[in-house]
Amino acid sequence: MRVLDRGDQLRKELDAARAAGRTVGLVPTMGALHQGHASLIRRSARECDLTAVTVFVNPLQFGPSEDLDSYPADLASDISVATAAGAALLFAPPVDDMYPGGRPGVTVHVAGVDMLEGASRPGHFDGVATVVAKLFNLAGPCRAYFGEKDWQQLGVVRRLAVDLSFPVEVVGCPTVREPDGLACSSRNGKLSPTEREAATVLYRALTAAAGEPDPRRRMAEVVAGEPLATLDYAEVVEDRLLIAARIGGVRLIDNMRVGV
Ligand code: AMP
Repeated sequence: MRVLDRGDQLRKELDAARAAGRTVGLVPTMGALHQGHASLIRRSARECDLTAVTVFVNPLQFGPSEDLDSYPADLASDISVATAAGAALLFAPPVDDMYPGGRPGVTVHVAGVDMLEGASRPGHFDGVATVVAKLFNLAGPCRAYFGEKDWQQLGVVRRLAVDLSFPVEVVGCPTVREPDGLACSSRNGKLSPTEREAATVLYRALTAAAGEPDPRRRMAEVVAGEPLATLDYAEVVEDRLLIAARIGGVRLIDNMRVGV
């Protein structure tokens, strides 16, 4: 696997691959790769001739009081996870390669995402849409792989691809969980051992609420029973239960299709 750190190199490599008739799969991540990311990379490697993984902790999608500075980073481990999962390229640019001169003058604003994650994290999805649009333009992927773990983000990316006519198929992939149900997340590593145990409350709340007449209330009750957890939201949107909670200082999200 080759590691690149400049957008123009990535573009050149992937333009050449497509010109040679190879399909390109893209897996955008913020690094600290875990089994959830690996499942996306493996799927891309199965379905595409060449898979590029991007590792970029995008400052635009973090609010001023969020964990940008403490977000976990381990490029050596990312390289070995991505290699083992079948990636051919890993693109890990510095911030000034993605945003020369600081904040970009052009950003992508996504309308209608001002509920749940959008409301809790103002500007977050604009940051996501802007960096994903840039990565689509640099990489020109045939398919791009995103996790259902970030269900609202998946919706934003699908909308971005349709509304801005990116010639990419956005592929949603199922959530990978630890054996006790906790969804794999780069932020799980920030939990203390007691917080790690408490963090299963998100999954416990989702499974307890599925099929209940008042799932929002049931999720809130389960979270209230966990002393280390503070509920941010518990909602039902279309066929999904969505939950966000803080465990100590770490904010986690999860979701589940009703009836699963
Ligand atoms: P992140 O590095 O957290 O920004 O995530 C990069 C991609 O991996 C996003 O499309 C996420 O939805 C996806 N992802 C993160 N965690 C999981 C998981 N547990 N299962 C499946 N996909 C995931």
